[in-house]
This record gives sequence, structure tokens and C-alpha cells, in this order.
Amino acid sequence: MLHYSCDICKRPISMHSDVRHVVKIEVFPAVDDMTGNHVDGSSCCNEEDGDHLEEMQELLESIDERSADQDGLFDDGTLSMRFDLCDNCRQRFVKNPLGIKSGKQLDFSNN
Ligand SMILES: [Zn+2]
Repeated sequence: MLHYSCDICKRPISMHSDVRHVVKIEVFPAVDDMTGNHVDGSSCCNEEDGDHLEEMQELLESIDERSADQDGLFDDGTLSMRFDLCDNCRQRFVKNPLGIKSGKQLDFSNN
């Protein structure tokens, strides 16, 4: 039996009493002409901050590993994500999908 949990609050979503909501996010470059003019040759890393650099590299490697076994992930900025949300988090999500902190008080306290 499949078990879902909310990707925001990590609460298990009970199939019986809760409604599971799926959020799909697709990110892709909005380019109309695909002539392939990628400006990607910028100087990669300054080595001013060694520690940070290592962390970054580890992070990037772990991301690489993860994305390697997923289809539909391309290196051109295209990304599709999928999240399961409980009803509470769904309501908060739709109000503020990008998590923008406005002046208003948002109910995003993390304990
Ligand atoms: Zn939730």
C-alpha cells in the first residue's frame, strides 16, 4: 500500500481522511528561437572561498546523482518537479506559490 506524506510539513497523508494534492512545477527557459546561443562560458569559480566551494561541489554532485536517474531533466534549465501536499499546505501554497515574504504575516513558522 502506498504511503504519501506532505512534502511541506512531512505529515503523512491518510488516504481515508485527507485529500492529497499534487503540485507540479515546470521550469523552462522561455525562448522562442532555439538557435542555441547559450552564454555558458563564464568563468566558473573564484577560489576565494574554499570551504564554500567544496560544499557547493558536494551539493552539485548530489544533485547530479539525483537528477541522473530521473527522466525529463535537462541541463538547459528545464526542470519539472512534483510535490504531494496535504490540504493545509495546499491552501497555503496556492496563496503564495513562490514563498514570497510580503509584509503580511505568513503562517510559515517552522517550530
Ligand atoms: Zn502539509
